[in-house]
Amino acid sequence: MRANKGKDTGPELVVRRMLHAMGYRFRLHRRDLPGTPDIVFPSRRKAIQVHGCFWHGHGCKAGQLPKSRLEFWRPKIDANRERDERNLLALQADGWAVAIVWSCELRDLNKVQERLFLFLGKPTSPSLLL
Ligand SMILES: [Zn+2]
Repeated sequence: MRANKGKDTGPELVVRRMLHAMGYRFRLHRRDLPGTPDIVFPSRRKAIQVHGCFWHGHGCKAGQLPKSRLEFWRPKIDANRERDERNLLALQADGWAVAIVWSCELRDLNKVQERLFLFLGKPTSPSLLL
């Protein structure tokens, strides 16, 4: 299993393509912001984090820890979750609204699309999808 810390991971690309087709324009991986959010909408002061369920400890099936080497995995995943939480609070304290997209949610793209549309508001460019 590959760490989800690298740029341009599969799930993030899926979300980026979808947002682009919806007519949104955005910046990527703003290093000057807490946690270097994946997708940033500076003028809306909104950001989207795309989280892999395993590495970020989602409560879904894909987020379950393996039964073997639990003592190895648990501290890692716990540390990731704590860091995510710290970054989220820091962003919010700085006036940013943040939406988290879990990779398991991408099985239903229409639902994610609807949620992000509600989160972001009207796109800047004409949408190809809606
Ligand atoms: Zn999940």
